[in-house]
Amino acid sequence: MNEKFLPTCCYHTHTKRCGHAYGEDEEYVLAAVENGYQELGFTDHAMLPNIEQRGTRGSYSLLDDYVSSILSLRKKYQDQIHIYLGFEAEYDPSLAEYYRFLFQEKHFDYLILGQHYFRDGKHLCYYGNLPTKGEATRRYVMDCVHALESGLYSYFAHSDLFMCWEEEWSSRCEEAAVTLLSKAKELGIPVEINMGRSRLGGWSPEKDLSHVSYPNQKFWEIAGKMGMSAFIGPDAHSPIDLYYGPFSYMKKIADENNVPIETRLKLPR
Ligand SMILES: [Zn+2]
Ligand SMILES: [Zn+2]
Repeated sequence: MNEKFLPTCCYHTHTKRCGHAYGEDEEYVLAAVENGYQELGFTDHAMLPNIEQRGTRGSYSLLDDYVSSILSLRKKYQDQIHIYLGFEAEYDPSLAEYYRFLFQEKHFDYLILGQHYFRDGKHLCYYGNLPTKGEATRRYVMDCVHALESGLYSYFAHSDLFMCWEEEWSSRCEEAAVTLLSKAKELGIPVEINMGRSRLGGWSPEKDLSHVSYPNQKFWEIAGKMGMSAFIGPDAHSPIDLYYGPFSYMKKIADENNVPIETRLKLPR
C-alpha cells in the first residue's frame, strides 16, 4: 500500500527520546536507506536546560546520548546516506545562547523552527491556550518572525501551525500567512508542507485529509502566488513514517498551488 511519491531527503525526524516517538535511531536510518533517501536530518524536539516537558521533549540529561548516537550513525552509514544532527526548536530570546552552544560545542548542523510553544519563565505554553484565537495567532506570528530573524534557523516547519487553533480561515489567517511567508522569503529560509497532523488518529490511503488543520489549502495557495517553494516534511515519529503515509496528498497540495517541491537543504557538510 505504499504510495508512489517519496522525497529523496528528510530534514524533520524525531527520536524516541521526546517521549512520543518510536523505534531506535538506527531503524530510522535503515528505513531511509532502504527507501532511497540521500540525506536524513534528525531534529528531535529540543532538549532544554531547566525546562521539563515530559512526553513532549526529552529531558536535558539525554542531550549527550542523542548527539553521540546520531554522530556515530553518521559515521557508520557514511557510504550510504548523509546524516545531519539538529533539533526542532522553539525560539525565545533567552534560548539563543544555548542554541549557539549546540552549534559551537555539540556539533549541531542545523535547527528547524517548530514554534509550538512560547516561553513563560520555566514553562512553555501552547499558543492555543491563550484567551483568544486572535491573541494566539498574533503572538505566534510575532515569535516566528523574531525566530526567523535570529539567524539560528535553516528551515521553517509547519508554518501554518496556527490553523490548529484558528480552525476556520479568516482575514486574520490570511494576514498571518502573508507575514510569515514574506519573512521566510525575504530571509531565504525554506518552508515546509508538514505531514504530522495528517497522521494523527491513524492514516490510511483512503482517508479524507481536507479538514486537517495543516497543511492548509489557503495557506499554500498564498505561498504559490508568492512564488515560494517548499520541502515536504515527514515529521517522522516512527521509522515507518519515512515511507508509509500521506506523501501523495502533500505533493498534491504543492502541485495544485504551484509550489515547487524542494529536495535538498543547503547545509554545510
Ligand atoms: Zn513530536
Ligand atoms: Zn516535528
